[in-house]
Amino acid sequence: MIPYGKHHIEEDDIAAVVDVLRSGLITQGPAVEAFEHAVAQYVGARHAVAVSSGTAALHLAALAAGVGPGTTLITSPITFVASANAGLYAGGKVAFADIDPETINMSPNALASALEAHPDTKAVVPVHFAGLPCDMPAIKALADKAGAAVIEDAAHALGATYPDGRRVGCCANSLMTIFSFHPVKAIAAGEGGMITTNDDAVYRRLLRLRSHGINKLDDPFVFEGQAFTGDIQNPWYYEMQELGFHYRISDIQCALGLSQLGKLDAFMKRRRELVANYDAAFSGCEHCRPAQSDRIESSAHHLHVLRIKFKELDISRSEFMMRLRAEGIGTQVHYIPVPWHPVYRSIGADPASCPRAVDFYAEALSIPLFVDLTDEEQARVIQSIQSLVARQRV
Ligand SMILES: *Cc1c(COP(=O)(O)O)cnc(C)c1O
Repeated sequence: MIPYGKHHIEEDDIAAVVDVLRSGLITQGPAVEAFEHAVAQYVGARHAVAVSSGTAALHLAALAAGVGPGTTLITSPITFVASANAGLYAGGKVAFADIDPETINMSPNALASALEAHPDTKAVVPVHFAGLPCDMPAIKALADKAGAAVIEDAAHALGATYPDGRRVGCCANSLMTIFSFHPVKAIAAGEGGMITTNDDAVYRRLLRLRSHGINKLDDPFVFEGQAFTGDIQNPWYYEMQELGFHYRISDIQCALGLSQLGKLDAFMKRRRELVANYDAAFSGCEHCRPAQSDRIESSAHHLHVLRIKFKELDISRSEFMMRLRAEGIGTQVHYIPVPWHPVYRSIGADPASCPRAVDFYAEALSIPLFVDLTDEEQARVIQSIQSLVARQRV
């Protein structure tokens, strides 16, 4: 069975993990900081904070952006549920700004309307769908005008570049950017996430929130009298200064992430080759086209999503997927529009409020794209889809 996505692990990745296991420090040792520094340097951000998952990263970022009761977080309807859930975790409300049908990213026009409808917005969370960067200057300008912070959900976009050549994660047009190291993403840490920022105060807040809200670095003490005996700082003393979480990540995971990061550019190169093959193969297909064609060279190519006119082909997506599965080819749908989920419906989300997302959802199919996909396997995928489309048309 060829899956739609999969990690790529080599012997040196395994050795990096084994080294940690032999080192005596299996959590909160040197690998966490080394991984943070390497990611910050790679993307060009001042700070990076590693956490236990991309979801944890979104939760802490929402809190650090000031989302809470009586405020709103706006995100894209075409994303994994975690992008939206961050707003609910923080005690806020969630609203959606529809996608641009050519990029499948948050549309700045739709964001302008959503900001008008929700003047209490504290955070805007654009999602670089499938690794294609959003129009960040436009999104940042709108968020600034509304007094909202921008948190980029770059779970798909480690290795992607903006049109100006800088890397996604540099936070030139955002307060924070989050990444995920779930095995299906660009690099794997088993599970893991990262927040990058250029803001020193946000960085300190994230460090505290990651570990129970306990003071970090040289944070001033609230109760100086408890912290000192005379002029000497009490060696046992720490303060929980706000309610935080245990969202730390281990050295075991970070050693794997660090080893994988060194291969990211090679991973990107292979993903680009595979996408070029798909684009060449499907360029003449009138019933299936790539979902994203604009500025595609800057994408991290996390997913390859086709838009297939199932209706015109007179086949259900379910049937299409089942027939591919019978030939050993796995596919997936990214994503069910978030406002369609029962939890969001129950808090008043309108499933028809994002018509572009609904249109996209009806036609979307993610086909296999991962580093280990061989040319032969890809040819099989192409052949199977082409013959399925051709068979349906007669
Ligand atoms: C994977 C993903 C997340 C969550 O990351 P985890 O590490 O799985 O918690 C958030 N947003 C998007 C768009 C994702 O694809």
